Amino acid sequence: MFKVVKLTTIVYVLCAVVLVAAVTPAFVMVSRGGDVAEAFSQKARTVVVIDAGHGGEDPGVTGIRTGVKESDLNLKTAIVLGDLLSSAGYKAVQTRLTEGSTAEGAFDKDADMRARKETIERADPAAVISLHMNKYEDASRRGVQVFYSTDTSEAFALKMQKHLNDTMNVPTLGRGFEPIRGDYYIAQCTDAPSIIIECAFLSSPIDEALITDAAYRLRLAGEIETAVNSYLTE
Ligand SMILES: [Zn+2]
Repeated sequence: MFKVVKLTTIVYVLCAVVLVAAVTPAFVMVSRGGDVAEAFSQKARTVVVIDAGHGGEDPGVTGIRTGVKESDLNLKTAIVLGDLLSSAGYKAVQTRLTEGSTAEGAFDKDADMRARKETIERADPAAVISLHMNKYEDASRRGVQVFYSTDTSEAFALKMQKHLNDTMNVPTLGRGFEPIRGDYYIAQCTDAPSIIIECAFLSSPIDEALITDAAYRLRLAGEIETAVNSYLTE
């Protein structure tokens, strides 16, 4: 009888210890979960527009070795970047999700650009990223370069270029770039901070081989997403 009581007591004590151990982390997790949920819901209200440049009858530049179309690589990179931003909690809006033009009917470059602007205006984004591929007469020119047009976009452009220098350009090329300011329609058709990223030089066989590889595009999109998140949360 005594042994039975003693065993029962031990069982109660053990149960209590297990209960405290189980409840304490659960409470901490709920508390942390609340913070994470709040941060996530804030991000869910933060819209990032991703603009895959060109499309339809406007292929952009083409690869020096394979003839791959810039428009297709822009779209593939844009979709991966959109998935990463969505996974991070942002609302990603794409200007196009097919290989065609963004505007209806026969191809018209002006209508295509206006359709992109309308998507950006409707989305009311916190940031706009237009994805393109570069070309240069010298096939040895390589790297990831950022362009922008307005004072509002300068800090975003600087942060993005620095991050892409640190993670992509310096490790592979031994050098980085400054973001380049110029007169670009897509980078100044909205008040939101807007940048153009020229992801690779399709005039370089090395850059072409890299950017046509899905694993490389995922890596690049991951670094772009990191810099967007850093810019929007600081
Ligand atoms: Zn382009």
